[in-house]
Amino acid sequence: MNKNGISRRAFLKGGAAVACAAATATIPLTVKALDQEPLATLHDLRKCVGCGECVTACRDMNQRFFPEPVRPFPKMYPKRVKAEDWSEKRDVTDRLTPYNWLTIQQADVKTAEGDLTVYIPRRCMHCVNPPCVKLCPWGAAHQEKNGISVINPDLCLGGAKCQAVCPWDIPQRQTGVGLYLDILPAFAGNGVMYKCNRCYENVAKGENPACIDMCPENVQSIGPRKEMVARAYEIAKEIGGYVYGDKENGGTNTLYVSPVPFEMLNDAIRKGKGLPDLAAKKDVMADGNAMTAALFLAPVAGVVSALSKIALTARRAGLGKEEKKTANPGEVNHES
Ligand code: SF4
Ligand code: SF4
Ligand code: SF4
Repeated sequence: MNKNGISRRAFLKGGAAVACAAATATIPLTVKALDQEPLATLHDLRKCVGCGECVTACRDMNQRFFPEPVRPFPKMYPKRVKAEDWSEKRDVTDRLTPYNWLTIQQADVKTAEGDLTVYIPRRCMHCVNPPCVKLCPWGAAHQEKNGISVINPDLCLGGAKCQAVCPWDIPQRQTGVGLYLDILPAFAGNGVMYKCNRCYENVAKGENPACIDMCPENVQSIGPRKEMVARAYEIAKEIGGYVYGDKENGGTNTLYVSPVPFEMLNDAIRKGKGLPDLAAKKDVMADGNAMTAALFLAPVAGVVSALSKIALTARRAGLGKEEKKTANPGEVNHES
């Protein structure tokens, strides 16, 4: 069989049994899996129809985290540091933004059996050894035991180091919000970085991420990484397909299985800011400089993080006083 020449219909038919088994065997999450081992999600790209229900679910679920910036933005020095403001473009869904943590890419490819459209949901890959966490100078990002990487919006200063070291440039910045406004507004950071946190609060309770639950096509499954990797290769073997995420950047907790090679998908998708590619990725943290930086940064970030928490506590105390003065029940003040 020509691996590149499989139609969506033939592909769906051939792999349905394996895919069904994969979807049902992974839910619900067990307490053991929650606490003790990395969890991975597997996207079966044969099934995605690009309906965007997952994108809507993600936006609904995470509304409460979305930034409410303060204006005017502080002037930054040096002047080349630009403000990034998505607050008046909150409806944008065709790329990643601070208000849109999941986007669907489309690849129209030609195969030996005809034209095929593949839709690819894109968000944080939740790397096994995440450079965004290891190289954040402020200790604002951390990795949960179950492998989810999370940026703490209360501690992030928006310097965008996480975006610079992320092989997919995933985190997105919103200016005019966060701790930097209280510390050194003109000189340190420039807002807060936002990305998919894989609904870590839901997962901690044994629930699925919203994008998994709301998908009408059961595109994603979630479970212990080892099982998800095995399943990805099982499906790939069954259909003569390909896996992305097992090896990229040293391995990620987001896996994709596709009927056509990822090089082909990568050539066909729109790429650019907020539009991650699907190229092969070397392991950022295997680089000697990155490892040295991580070793150096770990204690520094710990101290900075502790100081930031003190600043945050003071900030919240100040906010409490302000709120008493201008009490408006039900309205969250994101400005201080
Ligand atoms: S993953 Fe599911 S919900 Fe999201 S676009 Fe694909 S089919 Fe629709
Ligand atoms: S994909 Fe990027 S933002 Fe996500 S965990 Fe990996 S390095 Fe961090
Ligand atoms: S896991 Fe949660 S935060 Fe991440 S894309 Fe899905 S719904 Fe959004």
